[in-house]
Amino acid sequence: MMTDDQIIYLDNNATTQLDPAVVEEMLPFLTKFYGNPSSGYEFGAQVREAIDLARERVAALLGCEPDEIAFTSCGTESNNAAINSALQFEPPGKHVVTSAVEHSSVLRHCRDLAKRGCEVTFLGVDQDGNVDLDELEQAIRPDTAIVSLMWANNETGVLFPAKKIEKICREKRVLFHTDAVQAAGKIPICLRDLAINFLSLSAHKFHGPKGVGALYVKRGSRFRPSTIGGSQENGRRAGTENVASIVGLGKAAERAAELLSEEQTRVRAMRDRFEKAIGERVSGSSINGAGAARLPNTSSFSFDGIESDAALMLLDRHHLCCSAGSACRTGSVEASHVLRAMKLANERTRGSLRFSFGRFNEDAQVDRAVEIVATVIEKLRRLSSPATAKAPVLHSLS
Ligand code: PLP
Repeated sequence: MMTDDQIIYLDNNATTQLDPAVVEEMLPFLTKFYGNPSSGYEFGAQVREAIDLARERVAALLGCEPDEIAFTSCGTESNNAAINSALQFEPPGKHVVTSAVEHSSVLRHCRDLAKRGCEVTFLGVDQDGNVDLDELEQAIRPDTAIVSLMWANNETGVLFPAKKIEKICREKRVLFHTDAVQAAGKIPICLRDLAINFLSLSAHKFHGPKGVGALYVKRGSRFRPSTIGGSQENGRRAGTENVASIVGLGKAAERAAELLSEEQTRVRAMRDRFEKAIGERVSGSSINGAGAARLPNTSSFSFDGIESDAALMLLDRHHLCCSAGSACRTGSVEASHVLRAMKLANERTRGSLRFSFGRFNEDAQVDRAVEIVATVIEKLRRLSSPATAKAPVLHSLS
């Protein structure tokens, strides 16, 4: 099995390494403290206290109150739950506003709702991935149940202006949900003075465990749970709590809050160095979303004259982990819905790669990654040039 000391991990938007402090905090809840937090005796109460502490830590990261946090199984569940809830109240709101660049947990869910009779407006974006706020204002109707727009895009790192969107939704008196799965723990968030009704986050994007997330529900916002059963999470999410993971999410939130300002600067410096070096070393490369405000950790590159799937295969041979902005499906390369929505030229969408940096990356890895990427892109271009088109294919490459 490949271990993490053999790889260069630049895929922190896909998932992150667990922080050792998180593991340490979780372990007793996988071994010794197995009581049910809903049980009345002391052995259960101490577990309940650990969940309460996790709730306080997540609230501190988001600048909100602990009773506004409900733990869920992941960011996907939080996103689904917020939208579903808004559609259940009387008078039945039938219209949802979202964007064409959302994560599939919002996009596919909304497409599915549309098939079942709900009207959905998918806002477009410009070439840099920005949403048009005038278009948003015009899209909101008297029967709009909720606006769901992400805070940070997982592919490009482009930030939507959450505070401006919040203001529009407040003035139009419509619920606002934001998918902050890529934003939480990476950029400062303070919900106290904002009229954001719902916000989703996921622990594994900021060095916590997989399979646990949270949904922020602003005090006074009506919410109807999707999971019905016991009265856990103040009646907002039934089911016996995933205690160890919730404890891990709490610790990850505490670490993120402690390190946020230092980490933003350090990670941004690494990302910027990478972008500059790639720009200098690799001709025909461009950064997607370069003209927009972006997360400090994300680089979405397009390389002319290559297919991202082939690049990923070669990068993998050098043990460099990153993601493609396009995927090979039944023999043809399908561009990502995000880059397509940005109306990038076909060549740019086909040759796109996402590199995302994080807490455990080091400068030396960035330098090595630049060398590897430059070598791989050059090789792919050589192979696809007419003079070498008949050369033996990929398996002959190192
Ligand atoms: N939203 C965004 C923007 C994401 O990037 C992801 C995961 O990649 C999710 C939602 C889903 O989160 P989870 O993996 O916890 O379900």
